[in-house]
Amino acid sequence: MSSDFQSLGLAPALVRAVADEGYTQPTPIQSQAIPLILAGRDVLAAAQTGTGKTAGFTLPILQRLAAHPHKAAPKTVRALVLAPTRELAAQVEEAVRTYGRHLRVSSAVVFGGVGIVPQIAALKRGLDILVATPGRLLDHVGQRTVDLSKVEVLVLDEADRMLDMGFMPDIKRVLAQLPKKRQNLLFSATFSDEIRALAHGLLHDAATVEVARRNEASALVTQVVHPVAKERKRELLRDLIAQGDWRQVLVFTRMKHGANRLAEQLNKDGLAAAAIHGNKSQGARTRALADFKGGSVRVLVATDIAARGLDIEQLPHVVNYELPNVPEDYVHRIGRTGRAGSPGHAVSLVSPDEYAFLRDIERLLKKPIARVVVPGFEAGKPGTIPVEDERQPARPQQRAAKPHTPVRHAARSAESQRSEHRHARPAEAQPKRSHAAHPPRPAKPAQGAVHSAPRRDRAPRGEDHSDVRSNLPPALQAAFRRTR
Ligand code: AMP
Repeated sequence: MSSDFQSLGLAPALVRAVADEGYTQPTPIQSQAIPLILAGRDVLAAAQTGTGKTAGFTLPILQRLAAHPHKAAPKTVRALVLAPTRELAAQVEEAVRTYGRHLRVSSAVVFGGVGIVPQIAALKRGLDILVATPGRLLDHVGQRTVDLSKVEVLVLDEADRMLDMGFMPDIKRVLAQLPKKRQNLLFSATFSDEIRALAHGLLHDAATVEVARRNEASALVTQVVHPVAKERKRELLRDLIAQGDWRQVLVFTRMKHGANRLAEQLNKDGLAAAAIHGNKSQGARTRALADFKGGSVRVLVATDIAARGLDIEQLPHVVNYELPNVPEDYVHRIGRTGRAGSPGHAVSLVSPDEYAFLRDIERLLKKPIARVVVPGFEAGKPGTIPVEDERQPARPQQRAAKPHTPVRHAARSAESQRSEHRHARPAEAQPKRSHAAHPPRPAKPAQGAVHSAPRRDRAPRGEDHSDVRSNLPPALQAAFRRTR
């Protein structure tokens, strides 16, 4: 298949893997970074999650390794990706598997907080690409269960976050294990003096690539939170769709079975709905998407993973039926609307057990999302959640704007790091796709969550919510006026 990915210099096996994912166009970071990395350059990339950066470095690395296969057996690590959290490490390794599926390139992921023995076995079998968090990698170095002396490419992914988390000493120790001659790729969302110093010491004749933050690109999307009891979410969703006469709505759930159940219930409610998730055959997914695009299906219910690569132009409404526990996923989700210069509308139905997720999302966005209590679902009615007491003074907006507190621990032992990983926030430290093994963090008590949440059903001072309002059904527009 001829594609823009091919014109970047990628081999057919990689172009095919990308097409399997349904991606037709390289993202800006991919267009810029892939040719440079294929040419062997060191790269300093300003890119955050959501820009397609993972494929941006994974694809050219796979190509390089596949072009010159390993001679030695067992294989020693040729490409090393360091990531700040288990969750990111797991995602990157999954991307390596996805894009490398038509190649004979092997990979493994190692991170703390889980048993080391299976990791040792995987390392012993031999592999080409190792994705790791720094602490656990150093454990393996200490136990001599990994050989880093043949690394040809090093990637520091989310380098700013690694430094924020105090990984600099660990990174230095890892660097000391690597051969001097290698290709270095540094990805970071922000550029502090510390990052610049790291880049200066690490990169040689580096090319710099930079893309817009996706968080900023979503300015076209109006966002609103409807607080609601968990058991009344379906009712509220049905009302919003029917009263607002929304014709094309993408609804996100966290789990596959939740997507199925919701689609069935909406169908019973008379709203044509289909579910799309990983357990569905490719045929069923393609059909659901075609029906959705064609208008015979009004509501498409999807999980995060299934929604990847869904290319639906000018989707007017996105609903978070459940908030994602990884804040970046919120940005990806709402990025499905407000595309191609058209305005979009993102609604989140938030129950008390999700307040902590909401706080994390607002921290990432660096702004609060307007709360609108829907009449009939408001505080005080049975089965609904209270909003913060009117008499309490509004909390300062900075609370939401405050970036998440960096965990500083300059000289930690590997053991303390392991325990930190175990206790770190799920969004930062747990593999995203292991809900069964690591259920989302338990909800904070509803009372505490409500009272610690800044009051945001008012628009922040100076912020105009007229566009939020115009997307709401008439009954809600009145309610919105009342809450302001
Ligand atoms: P990342 O920034 O690497 O976390 O990627 C963000 C999301 O974009 C992931 O869900 C990828 O699967 C998806 N993605 C990567 N490349 C493309 C592409 N060329 N077109 C559409 N989606 C992509």
